Amino acid sequence: MKEELAGRLADAAFMLEDAFPGFTCLRCGYDQFLLRLIVDDVAATENGECYLIETACKRCGMVEKHRVDLLRDALLSESLPRASDA
Ligand SMILES: [Zn+2]
Repeated sequence: MKEELAGRLADAAFMLEDAFPGFTCLRCGYDQFLLRLIVDDVAATENGECYLIETACKRCGMVEKHRVDLLRDALLSESLPRASDA
């Protein structure tokens, strides 16, 4: 179970980096984060559990959360604009 969660966290971190290359803190611009994977019981669907990846800036502590399922759907969809296209 612990290894499965670690794998999911790594996958989510790669998705975040893929969607937002050079991801930095919105508040202070720092680029180092603590990461945590959270099971979101409220957003769970019939398709299964929903996960959030939480980033906490190592400099100022600002926290952001991203829904992993929506991030994955956006990355898999060719029709959606990518951050790198902007
Ligand atoms: Zn920060």
